[in-house]
Amino acid sequence: MSYNKNYKFGTKAIHAGADPDPSTGAIMTPIYQTSTYVQESPGKHKGYAYARGKNPTRAALETNIAALEDGKHALCFSSGMGSMDAVIKLLKPGDEVITGDDIYGGSYRMFTKIFQPMGIKFHFINMTDASNISNFMNENTKLIWVETPTNPTMQIIDIVACSKIAKANNILLAVDNTFATPYLQNPLALGADIVMHSVTKYLGGHSDVVMGALVINDDALYERLAFIHNSCGATPGPMDSFLVMRGIKTLHLRMERHCFNGKQVAAFLKTHPKIEKVYWPGFTDHPNHEIAKQQMRDFGGMISIVLKDATIEDTFKIASSFEVFSLAESLGGVESLINHPATMTHASIPKEERERVGVVDNLLRLSVGVEDIEDLLADLKRVLG
Ligand SMILES: *Cc1c(COP(=O)(O)O)cnc(C)c1O
Repeated sequence: MSYNKNYKFGTKAIHAGADPDPSTGAIMTPIYQTSTYVQESPGKHKGYAYARGKNPTRAALETNIAALEDGKHALCFSSGMGSMDAVIKLLKPGDEVITGDDIYGGSYRMFTKIFQPMGIKFHFINMTDASNISNFMNENTKLIWVETPTNPTMQIIDIVACSKIAKANNILLAVDNTFATPYLQNPLALGADIVMHSVTKYLGGHSDVVMGALVINDDALYERLAFIHNSCGATPGPMDSFLVMRGIKTLHLRMERHCFNGKQVAAFLKTHPKIEKVYWPGFTDHPNHEIAKQQMRDFGGMISIVLKDATIEDTFKIASSFEVFSLAESLGGVESLINHPATMTHASIPKEERERVGVVDNLLRLSVGVEDIEDLLADLKRVLG
C-alpha cells in the first residue's frame, strides 16, 4: 500500500508512517532496539548515526502523529512534560509567556518551579475571553501557551482568536491538545505554531506508555526544536514508540466510543440530585459551547463534577467506591478512571489559586473509558444512589 496524504483520519491513523519493513515486508513497524548504527566510513551512513537523534521506530511514529495533526513535522519525547520543556527552551531570560489559569498541574509546576527561577516570566490568566490576553502583552511576550479543553474544569479557549493575537504581535502560539486529540481538534489548522500532546493519554490509549509529542509546520521552528530534542535528550525508546504506533491504529474507534459514553455520562450526572455542577463542553449552557462547536468535532469523554454539600472525606469515600471506574491519575485510556484533582493531579497548585478556578475539594474528574455504557451508568448509580 502506498500512503496518500488525502486519506481520511482513520486510514491515516492506521497507515501513516507504517510502511512495510523494507528488509522483510513485515506489516508492523519493527522495534529497532539499538543505540547505534554501523557506518561505512566516518559520517557515511543511512541517515542514522546514534539513537538519541534518530531511531526508525520513533521516526515512523513521528510521521504518523504529524499526519494526524495535518502537520509537516513531529517530534516524540519521553513524556509530555519533556515536550513542553523543549518548547520553553526556545525562550531566554527576560522573555514572558501568557498562559491559562486552569492548566495541567504539572505544567504549572514546571513553569513556576523550574523556568520562573531561570528568569522567564509566566502570566496565568483567564483566557475564556481571549481578548484578555492583550492586557498582559508587552514587548517581552514571546509565547502564548493554551490548553483547551482545560484540565480539569473544561474551559474552552478560542484558538483562532489566540492565533490572531499571536500573529499580530509576531509571537508563537502553542496548544496543548492532549484532551481533544487530533481526532477532535487540529490547532495547526486554527493558526497555532506548535501542537503539544501528552501521548501518554488518548494517543497511547492503553495506560502502558508515558510519552509526549510536538507537531510543527514551520521548517525553521522545527529545526530549532529538533536541535533541543537531540541536545537535551528527552527522547523515547523504540519499544514505547511501537506501543504508541499500535495504540494509535484504533484512535478513531476509541474516540468515537469515548465521545458516545461521555455524552451519556454527562447527561446522567447533569440531573443527578447529589451533583452540584457538571463541567463538560458539550452542554449548550457551557459558557463557550459555541466555540467548542466551531473548533472541535465532538466533545470527548472528560467530565468533571462538583459533589453537592460534600466534605473532602465524603468526596474521598465516593471516589474510592466505584467498581468500573478506577481511582488513578492520568486519563485517556480504554479503562474509565476517576481522579481527585485537588490532592492528585493538581496538588502542586496552591489551594487559593486552584479554588479560584473551581478546583475545589469536592471536585472529581472522570475519564470515561470505552467500556459498555450500561456498566458505567450502573456503577455511577450504585455509588451516587
Ligand atoms: C498528562 C498531561 C501533561 C503531561 O504529560 P506527561 O506525559 O504526563 O508528561 C500535560 N498536559 C496535559 C493536559 C496532561 O493531561
